[in-house]
Amino acid sequence: LNQGIGSWPARRARKTPDRVAVVHEDRTLTHRELHLRVLRLAHALRALGVARGDRIAYLGPNHPAFLETLFAAGTLGAVFVPLNSRLAAPELAYNLSDSGSVVLVHAPEQAAAARAAADEAGVRQRIALTGPDGDGALGYEELLAGAGTDPLDEAVAPEDPCLIMYTSGTTGRPKGAVLSHANITWNSVNVLVDTDLSSDEVTLVVAPLFHTAGLNMTCLPTLLKGGRVVLLGAFDAERVLELIEDLRVTYMFGVPTMYDAMAARPRWATTDLSSLRTLNCGGAPVPARTIAAYLDRGLAFSQGYGMTEASPGVLFLDREQTSVKAGSAGVPHFFTDTRVVLPDGREAGPGERGEILVQGPHVMTGYWERSEDTEAAFTREDDGGRWLRTGDVARLDDDGYAYIVDRVKDMFVSGGENVYPAEVEDVFLTHPAVAECAVIGVPDPVWGEVGRAVVVLRPGADADKDEILGHLHGRLAKYKIPKSLVLTGELPRTASGKIIKPAVRDAYADGPG
Ligand code: ATP
Ligand code: MG
Repeated sequence: LNQGIGSWPARRARKTPDRVAVVHEDRTLTHRELHLRVLRLAHALRALGVARGDRIAYLGPNHPAFLETLFAAGTLGAVFVPLNSRLAAPELAYNLSDSGSVVLVHAPEQAAAARAAADEAGVRQRIALTGPDGDGALGYEELLAGAGTDPLDEAVAPEDPCLIMYTSGTTGRPKGAVLSHANITWNSVNVLVDTDLSSDEVTLVVAPLFHTAGLNMTCLPTLLKGGRVVLLGAFDAERVLELIEDLRVTYMFGVPTMYDAMAARPRWATTDLSSLRTLNCGGAPVPARTIAAYLDRGLAFSQGYGMTEASPGVLFLDREQTSVKAGSAGVPHFFTDTRVVLPDGREAGPGERGEILVQGPHVMTGYWERSEDTEAAFTREDDGGRWLRTGDVARLDDDGYAYIVDRVKDMFVSGGENVYPAEVEDVFLTHPAVAECAVIGVPDPVWGEVGRAVVVLRPGADADKDEILGHLHGRLAKYKIPKSLVLTGELPRTASGKIIKPAVRDAYADGPG
């Protein structure tokens, strides 16, 4: 029996065949149509020699074929490998050979990079969404048209690997987390238990599906419940506002930059947002100004916290608490346990800052073929049990609500005091002229390290550096206030919209501020 997520479309088609499952541009698929397309693709892949445990990669922006390939792989007990559509050919080749993918399904936008990377990595077969390309790729629709819909009953156990999902690469080279069918299922169960997500849900998927939140916080729980997902190929703040109003969107996930960009559009004030029930935000520190913009509109702006390695949900702020506990990432998901520990291993008390550790049935077994990284990612069994080390610093309030402080890796020490850049950035962002900001530590002969702010001004804003730095005085302790400020036009970001701090350090740590 297939107990993996590959069986979801068939199980859904049994219950709600005629309800709409997927919307993309002007196309819709019902749950039954999705199920039949998945089945055809699974037959086609099997005819190409794909077997249990084989890896099947997908490259492209959000599109129904992403979900079909994921479920078809799961139907065969094969492992799905979503690739970041912004990567260049050599990076793709690395991911393809690292994962040992035998098939690559790709969108037209990435055809040239896909061909080059697949050749270099020795991928056996390319499948192009636009059709056979005369250069070895088979056509996706042609394959489906030629395949049947006989039942396919490959045995898949919950603990079998389902996905190799690469981390965002915010702090270094992306690592492939191996997530089982059980991991992915438990995460969706957590989301369904902790939100009021229903079969009437209209979920907008604008975060890239190849990153964990787009897939696992929005798409999969909605499809499991029998709701509909609206896929958008690329983030565009104007288009998102339009879609929310036109399609009466009820639920979405975004990283803070997305929500920020939406609230900065002129049409923000006039867009009808009354259909929205829950807005889930996470993936990076959530600025106070972003939270305020949404709470002021009376919206349930729920911060969540998680990571690829945990499939990803760890903490979630209940919609009832969004204004009471603004700024908090909430409490652990229903089937999740967390601890906050000090560097000496002691449990942090209320208000103390420590690393957050996670246990739960949604936590990965390890990274793909990186046993040393896997060892380092967990605490030792004989040392209080095996907990996932998040590398993130949190503090708990008296009620047990968690506040994410920043990454351990981004912290710097100035005059013996720990400085968490996210806290400083948050204050910069309350200055009306500041659009974006990244704070890094730079060497200093007196203090060891001091802060440097790299700031992007809002279009048309005209503020001088001293005035912006002056905004921090009285709002932050002196040792936290950067000693220099650089103005720039753009900050380096991942495909999911996170600031890449190592790249900021490379570009701005040397030279005058
Ligand atoms: P890499 O591991 O490759 O460096 P990454 O950590 O950004 O990249 P993801 O798994 O996509 O990859 O992101 C998880 C991280 O995102 C968390 O470890 C945390 O640092 C950050 N994060 C997630 N949610 C929040 C939140 N609500 N507040 C602050 N940071 C968050
Ligand atoms: Mg990480």
